[in-house]
Amino acid sequence: MARIQGSERLKKRVRAALTAPHLAAFLPAVMIFAYWYGGEHLMVFVAILFPGLLAVGGALTRPSPRTGAVKDPTTGLPFRPKLIAQLDHGFESNAEYEKSCLILEIDDFQKLSAHLGAAGMHQVLATLSDRVRAALRETDLVCFLDTGRFGISIDKRQRADLEATLQLAARLQAAVSEPISIDQTRVLLSSCIGFALPSRAPEATGEALFAAAESALDVALLGGPGSVRAFSNGMATRVGRCEHNRVDLSRALDTGEMLPWFQPQVCVKTGRITGCEALVRWQHPTMGLIAPGAFLPAIAKAGLMERLGQVVLFGALSALRDWDLQGAKIPTVAINISADELNDPSLSEKIKWELDRFDVQPERLIIEILENVIAQTEDDVARHNIHALAKMGCKIDLDDFGTGNASIASIARFDVHRIKIDRSFVTHIDTDSDQQNMISAILTMTRQLAVGTVAEGVETHGEFTKLVELGCQYAQGYSIAKPMPAHAFADWARAHEPKNIQPNTFPKLA
Ligand code: C2E
Ligand code: CA
Ligand code: CA
Repeated sequence: MARIQGSERLKKRVRAALTAPHLAAFLPAVMIFAYWYGGEHLMVFVAILFPGLLAVGGALTRPSPRTGAVKDPTTGLPFRPKLIAQLDHGFESNAEYEKSCLILEIDDFQKLSAHLGAAGMHQVLATLSDRVRAALRETDLVCFLDTGRFGISIDKRQRADLEATLQLAARLQAAVSEPISIDQTRVLLSSCIGFALPSRAPEATGEALFAAAESALDVALLGGPGSVRAFSNGMATRVGRCEHNRVDLSRALDTGEMLPWFQPQVCVKTGRITGCEALVRWQHPTMGLIAPGAFLPAIAKAGLMERLGQVVLFGALSALRDWDLQGAKIPTVAINISADELNDPSLSEKIKWELDRFDVQPERLIIEILENVIAQTEDDVARHNIHALAKMGCKIDLDDFGTGNASIASIARFDVHRIKIDRSFVTHIDTDSDQQNMISAILTMTRQLAVGTVAEGVETHGEFTKLVELGCQYAQGYSIAKPMPAHAFADWARAHEPKNIQPNTFPKLA
């Protein structure tokens, strides 16, 4: 460390000498001397060489940003070495308190960066660092790690056990989830947290405690957005950000490890189940249940999106047939169609063939297409597919509405059945008047277009009630039920049959 600092100091001095403005004043004198000593040729040579030497010298002695910077300029937070030193100190005999380590990662950070750009991200990170700091004690330490991660060391005072750390994690997540205003846009974020208590560290070092918190975060990320995990001894080795390879993914698709789970959609007025959405899950042999956010990018990279689509369609239609046979009344099932699938010229034919095979009426199959995919659909193949599916009788739902930029013309052109209002507009709708105004505007527009509305990500009773009041038609979210396997869904649906539900009542919580 001392050697690095010494060499940085030397570089700084040489650079200052080479780039000082008065050095340029010597140039004419040097040229005259060269002309007098060696004639025209030497003068030209020196005229090129002298400024060149200054430029090269200046560049070579430029300070290296990593070793120079002590704090991140955006957040004003220190980096990882400071965190490790603080965690190390917690294991020393003279330390007042032991330290626990938490790592918080903003969900969908890459997508967010692409959406907001550098200036927007600057504002997001600066706001979040203030909030995270405000949620902690003065003596706790927050560091900026890398893309969208904050590392935290907290004093393990009395009763700072598992329960208390879980509560702190929930407070940090709540602080992150408060809306952030950027120009005219409101950004709503969620985060995952992994943490490790000192008593669980594999070794009594800051590095080991930090690595344990990273392992816990890796497991949290597999659980999907908003997950929290504590490091346990069973997690001894770091899972790592899994780069699932094509062979594993193909095997999982072929052997039934990847299957759709189902989340109900209900009519907000009557509470009746109007259908469900098929959402893929990977029951991994060693890692347990994995949410799609953790493996869909790998599926796309491996070119397996179409194969996934087949697996989910097959699973969804088999489930619908089984539920019919069991007498469970599930009117529709919705599947998510990716842009890759939509560009397959035989997509509508394949879907028709499967519907015939399972003897399911096309009206019972809902095709969910992302708003930003439909907005960019100038492509003939995708357009043909959407029109062919609609003509066949399938319904088209516009997914994640409000996050893309589909025009009113494209909603009309594609004969959209319903729009699914993205969770970011639904969160806090019962308490936040800006959110209410936004949803009211969307509902006015959909009424004029004679398009239905489904609110996504309805997490609380309060949000559900507000949606009823504002006139939204359908709802889907954890407050009604989380996604579940096909067999569990049939049981859940039976427990919610219409005889149990009075009009205008909130469906029983799962
Ligand atoms: P999506 O289509 O917007 O699906 C809704 C996501 O929100 C699901 O996440 C669901 O579990 C989650 N969710 C539902 N209710 C709530 C709630 O009240 N609160 C919160 N915080 N979340 C809620 P999931 O299952 O992790 O899926 C994530 C995304 O992965 C989906 O977003 C969809 O874009 C994609 N996906 C899932 N299955 C498939 C599939 O079979 N094919 C394709 N192409 N994409 C899929
Ligand atoms: Ca969807
Ligand atoms: Ca959605």
